[in-house]
Amino acid sequence: MTVKTAMWPADDPAAVARAAEVLRRGGLVAFPTETVYGLGADALDAAAVGRIFAAKGRPADNPLIVHVAAPEQARALARSVPPAAEQLMSLWPGPLTLVLPRAEVVPDATTAGQDTVAVRIPGHPAALALLRACGRPLAAPSANRSGRPSPTTAQHVLADLDGVVDVILDGGACAVGLESTVVDATRPVPMVLRVGGLPVEALRTVVGAIDMLSGQDPQAMSRSPGLRHRHYAPRARVVLVAPGEAAAMGGPAVAVMSQQPRPPGFVGRWQVMPSALEGYAQALFAALRELDAPEVETIVVETVPEVGLGRAIADRLRRAAER
Ligand code: AMP
Ligand code: MG
Repeated sequence: MTVKTAMWPADDPAAVARAAEVLRRGGLVAFPTETVYGLGADALDAAAVGRIFAAKGRPADNPLIVHVAAPEQARALARSVPPAAEQLMSLWPGPLTLVLPRAEVVPDATTAGQDTVAVRIPGHPAALALLRACGRPLAAPSANRSGRPSPTTAQHVLADLDGVVDVILDGGACAVGLESTVVDATRPVPMVLRVGGLPVEALRTVVGAIDMLSGQDPQAMSRSPGLRHRHYAPRARVVLVAPGEAAAMGGPAVAVMSQQPRPPGFVGRWQVMPSALEGYAQALFAALRELDAPEVETIVVETVPEVGLGRAIADRLRRAAER
């Protein structure tokens, strides 16, 4: 079934009010957050949540993040809130998702049957206005077709979901550009399940100890179901190389993402990425989409140092390069 997708300005209160009404009736609204665009539906309405999975082609075993406007609304979705979770909530609004023990009100569709629920307060004025206007928690994964690079502009959302999403609220480019950091706060020592827009260094400022989920953990897949699936991948093959190595890899079907200037005589496309990691993160998914032109067969990416936001950037690049 196809719908006529409307594109409305995210800073128009009347448009936000109409979008909230679409959500209350069980519809799908894509909206800007500080991380990436989210594909929202009423998190407590299993049928509406089912529409998210259908629209994205998302595997049913990959649970959704529930967005709320205030900490009380998050607590109402949880059976209990462990002390470490309370401390981490002081970092909201922001690119931080907390996994909490799930309350009865949250349907299986939203959590993919897990007995935990992932929650966050987004730090974008339009997202908060929409959440307040609609008065419901909103399940909102990234508003892309499953497996594709995440959308950081309304045009990216339209390119992937035209005809399947009812409304797109256009709020321009997202400020952070990477998905939230996901932390399992049900454990005595909280554990980072997915690195993201809030660096681990920032978590350490509010909780003493924090574990990192390792790929070697035999239970990694069940702790972080999203790890199972292919992600962030353009159509072209993505190849990662060390900084300085892309210059020798030119060719008519090659595109490069590098923090260095284009070398003289280089054949192919050369995208200069920002030298600051914040700028790099913000530009990352747009660059992957932009370089994924029909004539490009290989996107060569020079890796970034794995400190601060660099960990999340490197994670997304590695997963974009997976086949
Ligand atoms: P996305 O919304 O596409 O950015 O993906 C949501 C991420 O949150 C995925 O990596 C999920 O595995 C993770 N997630 C959501 N809910 C849970 C949960 N209850 N337990 C563990 N991870 C979760
Ligand atoms: Mg996603």
